[in-house]
Amino acid sequence: MNKEHDEILQNTFPWLKRPEKTKDYDRNLTLYKNYGFECSDGWFQLLYDLNKEIADRYAQEGKEVDLKIEQIKSKWAHLCFYYSIPGHADGIQAIDGIGGAGIRFYPESDGNELYKDIAQIVDKYEHEISGKTCEWCGQPGTPRKGSWVYTLCDSCYEQHTKTKIKNANISVLTERLWITKPTTRTVNIINEEYLTQIAEAGEFEEYYGAEFCEETKSVIDLNQPLFFLIYLCDRQTYIGYVGFTGQEDDEIFLEFYIFTEYRNRGYATEALQAILDRLFDNRFLVEEDGKPQIVRGHRVLATVREDNEISKHILENLGFKRNPDGEYVDLKLSIIAPEVASIDYHLTKELYFENKI
Ligand SMILES: [Zn+2]
Repeated sequence: MNKEHDEILQNTFPWLKRPEKTKDYDRNLTLYKNYGFECSDGWFQLLYDLNKEIADRYAQEGKEVDLKIEQIKSKWAHLCFYYSIPGHADGIQAIDGIGGAGIRFYPESDGNELYKDIAQIVDKYEHEISGKTCEWCGQPGTPRKGSWVYTLCDSCYEQHTKTKIKNANISVLTERLWITKPTTRTVNIINEEYLTQIAEAGEFEEYYGAEFCEETKSVIDLNQPLFFLIYLCDRQTYIGYVGFTGQEDDEIFLEFYIFTEYRNRGYATEALQAILDRLFDNRFLVEEDGKPQIVRGHRVLATVREDNEISKHILENLGFKRNPDGEYVDLKLSIIAPEVASIDYHLTKELYFENKI
């Protein structure tokens, strides 16, 4: 959000006031106080209206607004306006899910009419209004699927697709693996195979944070610009996938999944090394506007469940470091549920090559 809009909100609504920051991340402050409004300018009016409604409801009660703002961001094409109320634990109250399939918990109102109404107001903006408001320009919009999900109007979407990254055209052979893109002929079979494997392993919910059903199944598509399938060297045995999503500001998010029967053999590490080598060595080419472009991921982010010892081990061996406390990687497999702890990691080119030596 631009400075002007940001300041109008902070100066109009005292509970949105943030202190001057002295360091990048201050663990004593909420995510909102650390990062401000994590959405684009198109949602300025919506945030203004939401806070105005909160102010009016408190005014009816003759009370000062006593909400603590935890985090305000755009996620899966919807607004997340996380807050806590006095006397209740802080925290982000949501289970993330694909395509907005997550579950949102509002702070307990304990029968308090005021807090019940506030939850309703916030719910209306999160679930009805934000999904219909273009995040870039504020005009009526609809959620758009892609490697990153936004609510956009037709014209912003057209602009967005014009510069959209096309397929990364890479096939990599490592000692034991062949890493490649699905073809248009095989992509449906490949998707079905992947969904069957992850569901049978009982890992769909913990990986995506959403229930396995027709709706969630339908949004999973391994045919993403920066996704690759992992095969054994016979080029026929499909063992999982590896890929990047959400390429924004040079930060990209890593995902990988190896089918259960092929685990503990170092395949994930071998595949990750192969694509990280290319990425950090500027050999990761994609097609953009018909021209080859280098994907520049200066910072690769990844999230794993705290109890997923294997994935943690894989990432740490590759040089990934744990993020500073409270710094979120907001991918679908993050914050699976409030009670499930997850760990966020980052890797820079420097860390990666330092670790290789
Ligand atoms: Zn727009």
